[in-house]
Amino acid sequence: MRKQFFAGITAGFFIFLSFLSFAQKKSPAVNNDAVKTSAMAGIQAKYDDYKNIAMQIWDFAELGYKEVKSSALHQKTLQDNGFTVQAGVADIPTAFVATYGSGKPVIGILAEFDALPGLAQQAVPEKKTIEGKPAGHACGHHLFGTASVAAGIEIKKLIEEKKISGTIKVYGCPAEEGGSGKVYMVRAGLFNDVDVVIHWHPGADNSITMTSALANKSAKFRFHGLSAHAAAAPERGRSALDAVEALDYMVNMMREHVPQETRIHYVITNGGKAPNVVPDFAEVYYYVRHPKREDVMSIFDRVVKAADGAAMGTGTTVDYEIIGGTHDLLLNHTLGDAMQKNLERVGGVNYTPEEIEFAKKIQASFGYKPPAIETAAMVKPIKEESNTGGASTDVGDVSYAGPTVGMSAATWVPGTSAHSWQAVACGGTGIGAKGMMVAAKTMALTAIDLFTTPALIEKAKTEFVKTKGDYQYKALLGERKPALNYRD
Ligand SMILES: [Zn+2]
Repeated sequence: MRKQFFAGITAGFFIFLSFLSFAQKKSPAVNNDAVKTSAMAGIQAKYDDYKNIAMQIWDFAELGYKEVKSSALHQKTLQDNGFTVQAGVADIPTAFVATYGSGKPVIGILAEFDALPGLAQQAVPEKKTIEGKPAGHACGHHLFGTASVAAGIEIKKLIEEKKISGTIKVYGCPAEEGGSGKVYMVRAGLFNDVDVVIHWHPGADNSITMTSALANKSAKFRFHGLSAHAAAAPERGRSALDAVEALDYMVNMMREHVPQETRIHYVITNGGKAPNVVPDFAEVYYYVRHPKREDVMSIFDRVVKAADGAAMGTGTTVDYEIIGGTHDLLLNHTLGDAMQKNLERVGGVNYTPEEIEFAKKIQASFGYKPPAIETAAMVKPIKEESNTGGASTDVGDVSYAGPTVGMSAATWVPGTSAHSWQAVACGGTGIGAKGMMVAAKTMALTAIDLFTTPALIEKAKTEFVKTKGDYQYKALLGERKPALNYRD
């Protein structure tokens, strides 16, 4: 009896010990609601600082892989706030991973910061370029990166102050616009230990991203011929421009014989220098897009065959360089539903009377009927779109590395399209900065859910495994090194 009693006590003691060690590994219970309220206030309190960072990057307007100052500013902000920054990852000088905390879960937030060529615009509601400026933030990536940094810093505070276990990583992702920056980062294994990835994109409404994206493969085809005097000795010349035109003609005929949702577009990036010289060099830059990556691959191979044919027929030679390649985007409903609740809690963007005047002028420039200005203050209900949309994104490749969720925030006046002067103009004002805060807060709140509710991560992962199926990820751009000079 006594013996049994001691054995019972001993067993009980061990159970108690193991409970203690279990409890230590787990994060302490936190009041989710109070933490969220304080996170929103914490981000809002730094509105001026974050606006200032975003406006500096709006002004830098650096092109893909050339975002030296923009990337450095984000890295410094994160470092000043206690993050450890690993810079120059995946053989990309402007890519970085900023980390705080340790152990599981690992939550990643994506940050972009590249601008678009030829879209310099002042922060005014009429088309007004900036003389001598080669680029502008027409996709709002200056806001994108800054909101992600802001959310990361707020989560760092949570981990530190509430002694929560886990790791927050802010991924500095260069060259989204055609450079496929994230693809190299995925290929380098930088997302291998991440449980969930959160991202957003500047837009003209507040909504959760429930539209997939087109897979995309792009390349520059370069033809080499023989130059000669175009009038005095044309028979000695072989025109590389003829070859480009032959390729374009064949691809334009091919359009009739590709699956319905295919998108193919090109620009001639070099067509020779003078009409009286037979061009010995010409280059054309192609994009091939389709909702399914398998179709993109096979249509792209047909374009390559057409290029060979064009070279053969014009007596020239051809080589090509793959510039980019991105996957379609895997959606995650579990995470989308969680993020929707947070977006509804944060709410949309309210304009001042001056901003309403600005918005009216922007909308008057559209030439089509835009949604009401007040919709900037609203949050759209969550809804999966049956079509894939017309865009491609390198977030697609990230979405194959782990459960990924994203949203749009109204950084632009309702009705504004991306890649327009109106988007650059809005992004340079308080309208853009306020939309950025909606994104920063919603991402931070969603990360709080993930850090405090392990079951949410498990559910998201189960859905991810089901959606991805047995596909083994392989980058569409193969083994090529990052196309660091694709904007030259
Ligand atoms: Zn973009």
